[in-house]
Amino acid sequence: MNRFTPHITRIVIPTQVLGLVGIGVLIYNQDWVWLWGVFLGWVLISGCGVAVGYHRLLCHNSFKCSTFSRRLLAVLGCLGCEGSPLFWVALHNGYHHSHPDTERDYHSPRFGWASSYLLWQFKLSKTDVSFRAARHLTKDPFIKFLHVHYYKVVWGVVLVMALVSWKMALYGLLIPMFWSLHQEGLVNTFCHLKSWGYRNYETKDNSNNLKLLGLLTWGQALHNNHHAFPNKYNYAMKGLELDPAVPLVHLFKKRSS
Ligand SMILES: [Zn+2]
Ligand SMILES: [Zn+2]
Repeated sequence: MNRFTPHITRIVIPTQVLGLVGIGVLIYNQDWVWLWGVFLGWVLISGCGVAVGYHRLLCHNSFKCSTFSRRLLAVLGCLGCEGSPLFWVALHNGYHHSHPDTERDYHSPRFGWASSYLLWQFKLSKTDVSFRAARHLTKDPFIKFLHVHYYKVVWGVVLVMALVSWKMALYGLLIPMFWSLHQEGLVNTFCHLKSWGYRNYETKDNSNNLKLLGLLTWGQALHNNHHAFPNKYNYAMKGLELDPAVPLVHLFKKRSS
């Protein structure tokens, strides 16, 4: 098995290094005014791109939107550094939801916290993954284009942004890209341990809800709710639960749906 996939060398390592450089430069220069850029990037990449675009729309088809919005969300999702839309959907639907917390669930904490947080990616080879669960997306040539040219798309956006403003690229893109991977690692790890958080529903997996982490992860940490009702776009179900991704969904959702 090829343990050191191109995704690790071309995306994970460089964005983690550059994201840390970005945090260091921001602190060294005391560019606190640029925190708005970091926040905007977090909303666009982690919120709109990954939580709304990749997860709620492309994986679970939980709302309808225009073709333009769908493609825009897919590009923003690419910047989350978690693979192409086809890869993310194939892994999430075909493995995580189909076989949660079994040996077929790549990022289950049953293999250890470090594995579910990040190291599972090092164990993954492209040839391991079946794309059957992402078949519904292959009719869209733009989604296929993003899959084939994923690395070029990611670094092309960074390059164009750097030519416009290196600070916006470093703070507004690379810091949120750095964080996106950690956001996903936190959910994969701490939202699949029955000993953490609470469960509203008796699902067949070990998913739980963590309200505070939900605020930092665009609702993704209301994870037991999501596993119980994967096709609902609002993961807040009971009590004081809050899903910050819902207003973002409403921005893109077609009025009639
Ligand atoms: Zn899960
Ligand atoms: Zn899901």
